[in-house]
Amino acid sequence: MIVDDDVAFSRLLAAQLAQFGFQVDLLDDLTCLPVYLAQTSPDLIVMDVLFPQTKTSGPQTIAMLHAQIKGRIPVVFVSASDTMSSRLGGVRANGQAFFAKPFDAAQLIDTIDRLLGLKQERPAYRVLIVEDAVSLAHLYAVTLEQAGMMACVVSKPLQMLEVMENFRPDLILMDLYMPEVSGVELARVIQQHHAYMGVPLIFLSAERDPAKQLAALGQGGDNFLTKPVAPDELVKVVSTRAHHYQAMRSLMLQDSLTGLLNHSRLLEQLDHELRRAQRVGKPLSVAMIDIDHFKSFNDCWGHVVGDHVILSLARLLRERLRSTDIVGRYGGEEFLVIMPDTDTENACRVIEELRSSFAELPQYADQNVFYTTFSAGVAMSTLRDVDRKVIKMADSALFAAKRAGRNRMQIAAGTDNEI
Ligand code: GH3
Ligand code: MG
Ligand code: MG
Ligand code: MG
Repeated sequence: MIVDDDVAFSRLLAAQLAQFGFQVDLLDDLTCLPVYLAQTSPDLIVMDVLFPQTKTSGPQTIAMLHAQIKGRIPVVFVSASDTMSSRLGGVRANGQAFFAKPFDAAQLIDTIDRLLGLKQERPAYRVLIVEDAVSLAHLYAVTLEQAGMMACVVSKPLQMLEVMENFRPDLILMDLYMPEVSGVELARVIQQHHAYMGVPLIFLSAERDPAKQLAALGQGGDNFLTKPVAPDELVKVVSTRAHHYQAMRSLMLQDSLTGLLNHSRLLEQLDHELRRAQRVGKPLSVAMIDIDHFKSFNDCWGHVVGDHVILSLARLLRERLRSTDIVGRYGGEEFLVIMPDTDTENACRVIEELRSSFAELPQYADQNVFYTTFSAGVAMSTLRDVDRKVIKMADSALFAAKRAGRNRMQIAAGTDNEI
């Protein structure tokens, strides 16, 4: 539901949302909102702040309808007036987000996805518990598992590295005093291990001497919890730290504009999938996608609009592909899609569908609407792929698609079951 007295704005936004599968109702008269809400129940409200024709503002109205919508319908405020008072009004009306107009529709859509829980869930945090007291370790493990995390107990501390290699923790809970080795020594071993750089480590000990606690923190610990620790506190501290760690990691792996995998990460994943495909003897297809005449759109509408085009394609790819498919930004306006367990026929069906959807996706620049297309090259890996030959094949096919006139998909020469 979009509530805004600026009808041109709401219509444009509604068109953009509709492109991504949202069903949108528009309301330009704020006073009609109570009646509207009595009749129907939207999943989310996008609400303007100032309505010059009405005495009350958007946030005031939302606050008054508190009982009807509280906690049930998320509200996102949008306003041309980016002031403390607008933003504060939004927060006080329990708004979940605030966008200052003009804003990037892609960002709003991302926020809506998040608020409606449409975003793919992050995998559960993986917590390694290093603790020689077995029953205590299991108590922590159960506590964390009940909070939705994955826990792995190491009660023989000298085996820690072997366990870590398989478990790949997002966080380590470390006892301080253990036979054979101290928690501080283990923390330093981890700190010096390249593969575990940055993994947060929390000491958990009955040690109450502040000097000893501080010393431990200086030696590779990020935090200190004193035993006995309340389950709520344990869960809160562990999940907050693990969340920050995952967020930081994903920033390192992601392309900053689109949030997709970046070039080097993409190639790492490709190598991993190629090895897996060879091991299990399943086909693996890749598609190289490149936006057509992108340079002229950039020249005509400017780089910001160009960035939006890139984002809209990134989003379309993320939405339409299976969760097992891997998609990343290979270069400027070029994307690579890796489809495990997929033969050429199925890969082509998917890419062709994406191609036609993208060609129909309206792009906006000021008040103008334009359309862009992409070309794609599809290739299937042979069982003995060396030097990422599958990428070179897809690239040649892409080149052929460009030469053949663009806005089309081409299958690499030498690929089986052509359609
Ligand atoms: P073709 O149909 O043959 O692919 O033509 P093209 O114009 O799309 O290809 P070309 O490789 O000549 O131009 C790509 C342009 O993309 C050049 C570069 O300035 C632009 N570009 C690369 N990265 C970005 C980006 O992140 N944002 C924007 N806005 N433009 C980018
Ligand atoms: Mg207004
Ligand atoms: Mg191009
Ligand atoms: Mg290019």
